[in-house]
Amino acid sequence: MKRLLLVAGVAVVWWWMQRQPSKPAPASDGFEQDRRLIPGKKVITFEQWLMGRDKQYPAEFSQVIASNGRALVVAVNKLLAIAGIGTRVTSGWRPAAVNARAGGAPNSNHRTGNAVDLADPTGKLGQWCRLHTSALAECGLWLENPDHTRGWVHLQRVAPKSGSRIFNP
Ligand SMILES: [Zn+2]
Repeated sequence: MKRLLLVAGVAVVWWWMQRQPSKPAPASDGFEQDRRLIPGKKVITFEQWLMGRDKQYPAEFSQVIASNGRALVVAVNKLLAIAGIGTRVTSGWRPAAVNARAGGAPNSNHRTGNAVDLADPTGKLGQWCRLHTSALAECGLWLENPDHTRGWVHLQRVAPKSGSRIFNP
């Protein structure tokens, strides 16, 4: 009888231990989370994306560009929060003259307010995006193949002709 009680006791303890919630698994992709980044917090701002060009080139600036830019900034901040990677804008809205100087394609999405370049000196952000295309899709963003953008990352809010989430220029 004593032995039966012991077995029953062990079984109860085992059952109780199985019920304890396990600790969340650590991020398995090898990317260290930037703890300054929390969902909903602005990493880049609409003003940083404008780069003062709305005032320099008021004739080219429009409500459509502004609303495109605001939606882009929201989408990018969502992506950065998921990635846990901090960055800054290196190129935002480009009026025609600025785009030409930057060597951008005449039909660049930077001109319509649908693209941004972000600093990525170590390539960490580009690599993270490459491995997380579902996060890009969730945020409604497309990425230029980081092989073509060493030192920065180009994200846009419109699909390229190929429709590929990661596209070649
Ligand atoms: Zn770009």
